[in-house]
Order: sequence, then C-alpha cells, then structure tokens
Amino acid sequence: MRFSSLHTHSNFCDGKDSIEQLCDAAYSKGLSAIGFSSHAPLSRKAGFHSDWHMPQERLGLYLDTIGRLKSQWAGKLQVFAGLEADYIKGAMAPADFRGRELDYIIGSVHYVVPPHGKPFAVDGSPEEFEQGLYEGFAGRCEALVNAYWDSVEEMIHAGGFDIVGHIDLIKKNNRYHRYFSPEEEWYYARMERAAALLAGSSFVVEVNTGGLNRGTTDELYPSIPLLKLFYKNDVPVLVTSDAHCTEHVNGFYEEAYRTLLSLGWTKTVFFEGRVDGKALWEKESISWGN
Ligand SMILES: [Zn+2]
Ligand SMILES: [Zn+2]
Repeated sequence: MRFSSLHTHSNFCDGKDSIEQLCDAAYSKGLSAIGFSSHAPLSRKAGFHSDWHMPQERLGLYLDTIGRLKSQWAGKLQVFAGLEADYIKGAMAPADFRGRELDYIIGSVHYVVPPHGKPFAVDGSPEEFEQGLYEGFAGRCEALVNAYWDSVEEMIHAGGFDIVGHIDLIKKNNRYHRYFSPEEEWYYARMERAAALLAGSSFVVEVNTGGLNRGTTDELYPSIPLLKLFYKNDVPVLVTSDAHCTEHVNGFYEEAYRTLLSLGWTKTVFFEGRVDGKALWEKESISWGN
C-alpha cells in the first residue's frame, strides 16, 4: 500500500523544517509521495497581515525548490508542488491560484468574516477565538459556526481547487464541547449539507491528522460522524498529516487508516499528478494491519 502526505508545511511558511529535510523524512518513513502545501500568500484585499502565510515574494523560490527536488528524487519519491489556499469571504479564494505551476491546491477555511468587524482565524488561540466570538458575533456561537460552514460551502461552490482541507476545523477550539455539541441537530444538519454537496463532485476530502500531531485536538478532521456521512455519500478521502516538521510527516496514520477501516472504507485515493489540467486520483486499497 502506498502512503503520501500532500498537506505539508515547510519553513517557507509556518513549518519548522526545510523542503529538503521533509523529503528525506518522507522517504525514510516509507512514504511514496510528499506534496508541499505552503499557506498561499494572503491577498491584499484581505486587508491584514499574518505571520503564517508565505510571503508573495517567496513563491517563485518555493516552486523552484520543489522543482529541483522533484528531479533529485525521481524514481524514489514523488514530490509535488501544491498550496493550501484560504477562502476568505469577499477577499480571497483558492481559485485565485489556478494557473500557477502547481500540481494541486488544497482549499481551506481558516477565517470567518463577522457581520461587523475583522476576519479572524477560528483555529487561533482560545483567547483569539473568544475575542472573535464576542466582538464579531456578540457571543452567539451558533452564528459563528454557521458562518464557518457557509464559507466552506461557498468555497466548494466557487471551486478551482482539488482537496478540501480540514473540513471541520471549527471544532478546534471546541474541545470538551465547550461552545457547542456536535450532536445538536443544527450542527448535524450542517455536516449533512456538506456531505451532500461533495457527493459526486470532483473534490477529495482530506482525513487530516494535524490536530492529533500537534496535540490540539483529540480526533481527526473530519470527526467520526462526518466521516460516516462521507462514507454514505461515497466521497473520496485522502489521509494527510498537515505536518509542520519532519517528525509529523506520517504522524497518526495508523489511527487514521484504522478509523477508516472501522467505518467501512476499503479504499482511499492516491495522487498521481496533474494531467491535462486535472488532478489524477487512483484508488488505493487500505491494507493497514492486514
Ligand atoms: Zn490549514
Ligand atoms: Zn495546513
């Protein structure tokens, strides 16, 4: 069985290690492919700065470096150039990066835009989350969570990318169900809508172990109930690590694959590259532990 991680951050954005070091780690840990997904440069329209997006002026060097490593590793490890691009309502969308020399784009929602006030990242610190909730949404958690899922749906409708990143990132600051219970009907309905929207689409959803790797969640993205809905709707899934350092390149993969097997999955997908402008996905049978 072939393993890969297409969700990897290097020191071109907020990762710790270099692209070279991450390729070495991927190979030594037995991965068949590694794809880099630096946080795509923020648009000017976003109107703010961040210290975790790749600066615009580094994009060229980023692509050149990956290009060099692609040739260097040819025949041993597939190396892909990607971006994790934000959807920020009214300011930026993954499709803005189409046309670059990229093998794939991960579309992610990190920011919600409150009715009044500045966009804020839902995966920030608990203090930042609390501040966004009270200043932007008058403390109404359901409104904030709905704004998040609305953005995910808008991003999917807008298209122009290949993989949906950590689709239920909104739960990151909801440990111990501090703000809402995912069992509540309104939340379940949002998950059902997302699954229905992705059913029969060309998108792949990642099963992202990043929260487990960094100790910020005690579950995968997506949660088990959401994975069950994806299974029911035949939505293809891809295991990724969202690694920000070499140690996490395939972190918690056993948990991810065992979870998928326990929910009925027998296959994930494997990225074979971009052909005629389209992402080429092959089915990959899960044989973990067999
Ligand atoms: Zn992300
Ligand atoms: Zn990421």
